[in-house]
Amino acid sequence: MSQLWSPAVRSLTPYVPGEQPTERLIKLNTNENPYPPAPGVAQALRDYATDHLRLYPDPASRALRQTLAETMGVGIEQTFVGNGSDEVLAFAFQAFFCHAAPLDVPDITYSFYPVYARLYGIELRKHALDDDWQVDLDALSASGERSGVILANPNAPTGHAHSLQALEALLERVTDRVVLIDEAYVDFGAESAVALVERYPNLLVTGTFSKSRSLAGLRLGYAIGAVELIDALERVKDSFNSYPVDRLASAVGIAALEDKAHFDACRNNVMATRERTVSRLEALGFSVLPSKANFVLAQHPRFEGAQLFAGLRERGILVRHFNTPALANFLRITIGTDDEMDGLVEALKALCG
Ligand code: PMP
Repeated sequence: MSQLWSPAVRSLTPYVPGEQPTERLIKLNTNENPYPPAPGVAQALRDYATDHLRLYPDPASRALRQTLAETMGVGIEQTFVGNGSDEVLAFAFQAFFCHAAPLDVPDITYSFYPVYARLYGIELRKHALDDDWQVDLDALSASGERSGVILANPNAPTGHAHSLQALEALLERVTDRVVLIDEAYVDFGAESAVALVERYPNLLVTGTFSKSRSLAGLRLGYAIGAVELIDALERVKDSFNSYPVDRLASAVGIAALEDKAHFDACRNNVMATRERTVSRLEALGFSVLPSKANFVLAQHPRFEGAQLFAGLRERGILVRHFNTPALANFLRITIGTDDEMDGLVEALKALCG
């Protein structure tokens, strides 16, 4: 480790995303959508490949934000876009959570949150999940000094989602700091807290085009919240790079948002395949946590997660296994096409039979 590094960088443990294999595998490890993006995306790419790339992007991303605002039923000034929701989350950590008090976070959630917290010197106060592997909203919102509250809904990698009513109760209790609800997976059966932003000026909802819009390769994410919160995100962004997203991402994002029929067809397919997959995994003896996301977390009473992960890998199927004690017995399996899930179930039959 170099002495030239600053102390904060020396203590960093970078987030390691799931593997992107070079060989052809059934890839069920990083919660991508198995279906292609809306057909209009290809047209937008063709149009933009010609003249438009010569020009800088609109620093206010008005066209994309206007379409996003219409899709979400909010005003354009309540929207913010960035390069993937990971970047939007990074801006939000800087804008809202850098106070001299801990950030309340569930213990077992998206593993990027601790990375950002460390990067920005934010102390975390972790709250264990309850006996049903659900985020304990009472613990998360218990009174005390805090810099904010963050939760993914649906949570990752468990897949459980709280109702809007439960989220509202949390927002009634935490009024002094920002409550950030990360809705990366909301379109696969959960209720969106965007409906609550008018009433709770401290609520920031983040989302992504990577999952339900099939655009993980592009890096496009957003935040929705009160104008005051969006202003803070703009300040952080402008101090860093005043072009929020590039022209291509903007055009492609608009095309993806405009095709509601394609969006609904893809997410309905994923949800139907998820339900079929859960029944088939249960028939093989797995217990599967109820999921409102495009993945499931499953464990087998007789086989360890690492063992099944390796066995599947040998059979050309990539799933996610987390090397943390609490999740050691689990596999997180992204919902792919029906054919891909047939392949998974056949391979697990061979491994567990
Ligand atoms: N939030 C959660 C809970 C996630 O699982 C992910 C994807 N790994 C993200 C945010 C980031 O998504 P993206 O940067 O692709 O928008």
